[in-house]
Formats: sequence, C-alpha cells, structure tokens
Amino acid sequence: MSDFAQSVKQQADIVKVIEGYIRLRNAGAQRFKGLCPFHKEKTPSFNVNGGSQQFFYCFGCQASGDVFSFVAKIENVGFPEAVRIVAGKCGVPLPKREFSSPEEAAGARLRGKLLELHETATAWFEEQLRGPEGAVAREYLAGRGLTPENIKTFRIGYAPDSFNALRDRLSPIADNETLRASGLFASKEHEDGTLGPIYDRFRKRVTFPICNESGRVIAFTARTLETGDKAGAKYINSPETPLYSKGSVLFNLDKAKAAIRQMEFALLVEGQMDCISVFLRGIQNVIATSGTAFTEQQVALLRRHTSQVVVNFDPDAAGSNAAEKSISLLTEEGFTIKIVTLDGGLDPDRYIRERGLEAYTAALRGARRQSDYLIERARQSFPGASAEQKVKAMNFLLPHIRRLPEKLARDQFAADAAQKLGIDSAVLREELRQAALRRRDHIETRATALTEVERVLLRALAIDDPEFAQSRNLAAEALAQQPTWFEHLGAFAALQALATRQARDPMDVIEDEAQRALLAETLLAETKPPEESEVQSAVQEIHEHTIVRRLRDLRELIAEAERHGDFAELALLTQQKLDMDRALRQLHNQRPPER
Ligand SMILES: [Zn+2]
Repeated sequence: MSDFAQSVKQQADIVKVIEGYIRLRNAGAQRFKGLCPFHKEKTPSFNVNGGSQQFFYCFGCQASGDVFSFVAKIENVGFPEAVRIVAGKCGVPLPKREFSSPEEAAGARLRGKLLELHETATAWFEEQLRGPEGAVAREYLAGRGLTPENIKTFRIGYAPDSFNALRDRLSPIADNETLRASGLFASKEHEDGTLGPIYDRFRKRVTFPICNESGRVIAFTARTLETGDKAGAKYINSPETPLYSKGSVLFNLDKAKAAIRQMEFALLVEGQMDCISVFLRGIQNVIATSGTAFTEQQVALLRRHTSQVVVNFDPDAAGSNAAEKSISLLTEEGFTIKIVTLDGGLDPDRYIRERGLEAYTAALRGARRQSDYLIERARQSFPGASAEQKVKAMNFLLPHIRRLPEKLARDQFAADAAQKLGIDSAVLREELRQAALRRRDHIETRATALTEVERVLLRALAIDDPEFAQSRNLAAEALAQQPTWFEHLGAFAALQALATRQARDPMDVIEDEAQRALLAETLLAETKPPEESEVQSAVQEIHEHTIVRRLRDLRELIAEAERHGDFAELALLTQQKLDMDRALRQLHNQRPPER
C-alpha cells in the first residue's frame, strides 16, 4: 500500500464511509451491523468494526476487508480508484494522479471532463431559464406550483430554441469528440456512416438534471413546451454515455437517501415531475423510476438504503408493464411492498397540489399491503360468484404468490386470497402447494469452519496488545519453527501471513479473500487476544494431532512392509513408530490436569 493510501486509511473511519452506502445499526463496542450490500438477505449479517480494527465482514457471503476493499467492491472500481474515492470522502487532498493503465487514465479524464460539461450546461440552462427567453418555461413551472426557490433546489433550467447556443457555450472548454461523448448533442448520420456536425439535443425544453448518488449532474431529461404536431416526445432524455446508464440511476436518490434511511422506506413514483412535486412539499424519501421497469442494478442501489417500498404509480400506469415488472422484481428480491391508490384517479403531483400534504400523507399511511391490493384487483377484474370467475381470479394471483421469496408470506397471501375471494381454501391450498413446489429453498453452508485452535492462533497473531506480546511471540515462533505442524489447517495461509506481518495491519497482509474472511469472523467473535497458556495448549494440541496423523500413516506403512516382507523397512518404520509413541506420551504428561 502506498504512503498515500496508508495516510488516507488512517484518516478514514470505515463506519462513516460504509454508512454513506448502507444503513448500519450500532451493535455496541465499536461494532455495527446492517444488511449486506453484496448478497441478498433479510436479516443483517454484515458487520463493520470501527475503532482500531477498521474492517468489515459478512457472515452470509464472507465478503471482508478494509475501507478500500469495501469501496472497490461496491463501486466496482479498482484499488487506486477506491483510494481516491475514500480520500475524496474524507477530504484528503489527492496527490498527482496515478493510474494502472493509459486506458484507465483516459477513461477517468473523459469522465472528469464530461462532469465538467454537465455542470457548465446545468448552470447555463439555469441562466437561460432566468433570462428573457425562459419566460414561457417559468410560466409552465409556476403553473406546476414551483417557486423560484424550488427551481433552484432541483436546478431546473431551460434549453432555448437554438441548434447551437449550448454548443457555442461548451466548445471553448472541450474538443468536438468530447462534446459528442457528452450526449448533450446530436448529429445526423450520413449514408456512408460518417457523422454530420453536432447540434444541441435539447431545444425549447425545460431541463431537469439527473444526478448520480453523490449529487453530480450526469444527464438530463427535458420536457417540451410545444403543443401539437411540432412538439415531438413529451420528454427526451440523454442517451447512454460514459457517465450515464439509465438502468443504474434512481432519480432523486441523492436528495432522498438520508430521508429513506430515517423513515425506513422509499416512496416510489413514476415520473420525475411527480417526484419533484412530492419532494418539495415535504415528503423527502421519494424517488422515481422514470417510467421504465426497474433493473437489477436499481434494485441493488435501493437495497443499500431500505428494503421497504411504498409504490404510488399513476393510476393509468398501475397496470402497465413497466410498473408490474418493477413490482415483480422488487418482490422477488425480498422487498416489502405497499401500494397507494389515490382517489379521484389523480397522479401524485396533482393530488398533493390539489389536496395538500396532509391528505397525501394520510393516503400514504393508508397504503395497502401488496397482497391486499392484488386480491382487490383480482376481485374487480373477475367479479361474480361463479366457479369460473374464481378460477380466473386465482390464476391471476398465483404468479404473484409464487414470486414471494418466503414461504410464510406465500401461505399468508394464499389464506387471505382464499378468504376474500370466497374460494374453498383446500382447493387453493393445493394450487398453492404446486406453485410453491417450483421454488427451491436452499440453505447456505460455510465452506470452511474453523477449529477452536485456529481461532486462538489467529487472535494471538492478529490482535495487537502489548500486554499479550508473549502470546503473539509463542504463536509466531511455533509457526516459524514447525511449519509442517500447521500445514493442514484451513487457516494456514492466514496464520503464516500474520506471523510475519510485523507492524502491518492484519487485514492488509492476508491477500486471499477467503482467508481474510476467516480472520474477520474470528475477530468479530472475540476481540481480546488469548492468554499465553491458551496459545501454549493450542500449539500442543496441533503438535499432538501431527503425531497422531503420523502414527496413522506409520501403521499403514508398517502393514504394507509386512505384506511385502520388507524387513529392513519394517525395522525402520517400527523404530519411528516407537519414537512417535514416546513423543505422544511425553506430550500427555506435560498437559495440565483436566479442569
Ligand atoms: Zn454478504
């Protein structure tokens, strides 16, 4: 690890950094717990040790490491980039950039430049909105109930009716190729495949910046102010760029994440305008899907903050494919979902403007469990008491029931459905059983389990405590002098690395992730180093096991020598066996009397 990385690590608090990504609960003594961002789970097995230890470990998927490994894994970046991200979070100034490859350097340079272009474009659009050309747009926004203060919060702007105004503004700060890559411009493709000159993509539109999780603008969505044939699409968005991938951004997450964690649920609406409107009127845990179905990446992004979602889609879109798909995916991923239906068929934006915050809050409180909502829909879609209608209603519900990851929830849903639809529950239960059979519940087992002896040695070697220096020395010496005694242990690589680590951080010296996980698990269970006597008996036990194994081998070899009538060999082996027997007896005599 470079000096720079080392100094960043000293200044970073792993708990604070990880809390920027997922919710953690204090579990006492500098320990924190939360839902693991690296595997699916409903009960927290992800641990973070603050204080002097500064590492994380997940009992579920065995992910572990220090603050840099966490950031590298969650941001999906390399180690150098992770160091820079952490440095940024802690306000440590960056040294001259170092990259592992020219491509990485070029990629980072391009992304940096694109962020700059987006920032400049945002400020410029804001300026245009305030200017004379922005009058129509200001009128539109005022009509939606937005104050100048509100407009500033979301950095809403206006793209004037021009093919080159933004291009002229940005071309002094970036070359043509970079401008093309920004997605802020479009160009005609000629027949021979070459591209024509670039022109402004957003024209005569209200611009809404789309931000990444840290609040930097990475794309725009823009609403037309035209009506009639000339208008084109109501909204147009930035295309995919090196900065922006539609499927991995949740609109407003940067502003909503603190409130989502605090309130322990996210309110999901469909459109950006709904989202802005609801947020500005005081409900700050709101995010938007932007009208397309959720992707796995978005689900993963959301899971870092909550596992409960209240869905309030437009009534006319509630049955739409995108909405259904989003809800299905969230259900499959174990989210708890409630559904709001607003009366009067209003969308969230209009509802909150016309009826006020209190009425909307009441509607949210009245959100129905997803199962109740679906059963109600089944009843409305297939009314009547005939057997045929009931079968149809059931068939509508079964796919939803099957999707629930937990058996208990499936049973509950089925029982409710049976009762509310007036279906003979024995019939439904049989159907459900069939549906449930298609799911496979699997239990994960640990690949390696540590023995008590290994735990003692790991703790002796990894925990720095001057009072227990002798415990550490004992363990390190045994490993150095008799490495063969330890070879068969699952944690051998970790033990060896720790024994020779000198003053380095224990989590740093173990390169293999699985081995690091073994250490992390041990340290989470017990934070004190072992007494000298514990190390002594651990080493003795390993010595004894070594002898016992050797004796077993010798017995086989002796039997083999006897079969072949190899008497010279037999004499040699028998002598070795006698030596081993004696060694074992000696060991037993040394052992302190059993307690
Ligand atoms: Zn995990």
